[in-house]
Amino acid sequence: YTTNIVTLSRTLALIKPDAFDRNLSGKIIEHALDSGLRIITIKSVILNKKQVESFYDVHKDRPFFSSLVKYMTSSTTVAMVLEGPNAVDHWRRIMGATNPAEALEGTIRKQFGESVERNCCHGSDSNDNALKEIGFFFNRRELL
Ligand code: UDP
Ligand code: MG
Repeated sequence: YTTNIVTLSRTLALIKPDAFDRNLSGKIIEHALDSGLRIITIKSVILNKKQVESFYDVHKDRPFFSSLVKYMTSSTTVAMVLEGPNAVDHWRRIMGATNPAEALEGTIRKQFGESVERNCCHGSDSNDNALKEIGFFFNRRELL
């Protein structure tokens, strides 16, 4: 006989302030769950300037950075740890492209994104970054 071992991995997902303010949290969570991902933990936070600057540090020299920081501190963010096979790629695939105008039909950003900045959600882009980003929002006890 053969055994089929599925390795589960985790990613950090955010529902960004534009989507939270438009009452889209439930629909975005539904997308994640319907696609087979599991929520390991979830919380809402209002990020401050320092936190956003640190979270998006790789983009600090980009022209959109100050606007991004302002937007991400403007209201509530929902942070979740999602788990499934290839969670990082899986979640990025169902989110769609960064620019909602370029996102595929049926993706979350195509459906709900307002602009390249206000694109309603975030997902880690690698397993290493997922680990760092999860640690940014959640401590060990919250991940048991
Ligand atoms: N962003 C922006 N303008 C751009 C590119 C990105 O405002 O030209 C914002 C957008 O909210 C995006 C975030 O910065 O989600 C991080 O950019 P990244 O390229 O990492 O895209 P993501 O990984 O979120 O798809
Ligand atoms: Mg990114």
